[in-house]
Amino acid sequence: MESASKTKLCAVIGDPVEHSLSPVMHNAAFKALNLNYTYIALRVEKKKLREAVDWLRNIGIHGLSVTMPHKVDIIKYLDQIDRLAEDIGAVNTVLNKNGQLIGYNTDGIGALRAIKEKVPNLRGKKVVMLGAGGAARAIGFTLAGEDVELTILNRTGGKAVRLADFLKKMFRGMVSGSKLDKRTLQTALSNVDILINATEVGMSPRTNETLVTRRSIKPSLTVFDVVYAPLETRLLREAAAVGATTVNGAKMLVYQGAEAFKIWTRLDAPVEVMWNAVLNEIRRRGL
Ligand code: NAD
Repeated sequence: MESASKTKLCAVIGDPVEHSLSPVMHNAAFKALNLNYTYIALRVEKKKLREAVDWLRNIGIHGLSVTMPHKVDIIKYLDQIDRLAEDIGAVNTVLNKNGQLIGYNTDGIGALRAIKEKVPNLRGKKVVMLGAGGAARAIGFTLAGEDVELTILNRTGGKAVRLADFLKKMFRGMVSGSKLDKRTLQTALSNVDILINATEVGMSPRTNETLVTRRSIKPSLTVFDVVYAPLETRLLREAAAVGATTVNGAKMLVYQGAEAFKIWTRLDAPVEVMWNAVLNEIRRRGL
């Protein structure tokens, strides 16, 4: 091992951050490639973000993962924003390039890679996405570039419509948005190839909740849930019970992390190592 003074430091900042799986995942990846990097979790309160970013810049932080509640607010403290992150309006990864902090968003890329493992060709596929928050925006931007027919349903209808209108203009694609209720959901699910839950519904500790049950799921459907704790959400259990294809949120977590790893190290990430580290940690915590 090289001297500790040469160690490149990466961190996840958020609040809360204690539950983050990123330190385990990234440290396993650095170790597997024998890189002199280390990754820690730092709790940063919302009102202390500016102070924290200044301090991290001063100590020469190499890379950051950014999680709730800082993904949007951090933009104003960075020196450059990558185009995709700017369009999404949120940053989940930062690279320190010669003292310049550059913001990226790898969430959508991670989700797309997770979905493509099961559905390699998305062109023309009918996709229903539940939610219009941060995760949904990131996924919407990457999905709309794949020529899918996208329907966005959200509890607050206006937010779904605004996101859909923006994506439609930008990609000239077939995108629509409406309020999420029983009727719109039933209509949307009657003719769909891929269903994405991009809300926190089903997340621990409210693991018995789901926006869609097996009665509305056909075996031909692919169901992707962004929630990764628990690994198998109630939605994914309901989908598996009727023989539908499932994609869990841990896959997205690993693939967005793999993309961040590449930004920091300029190397391809050891995805298998990261996946095993995340899986072991989820099992160890009994999630
Ligand atoms: P957010 O607060 O920005 O958005 C939350 C969304 O959920 C909103 O659209 C809201 O309307 C909807 N929602 C919440 N409760 C609802 C309910 N009862 N019924 C209907 N809709 C409801 O949050 P976010 O950053 O988009 O995160 C959403 C989920 O995605 C979280 O569980 C988060 O952990 C997960 N996530 C996973 C990954 C990953 O890598 N797997 C990455 C980012 C976020």
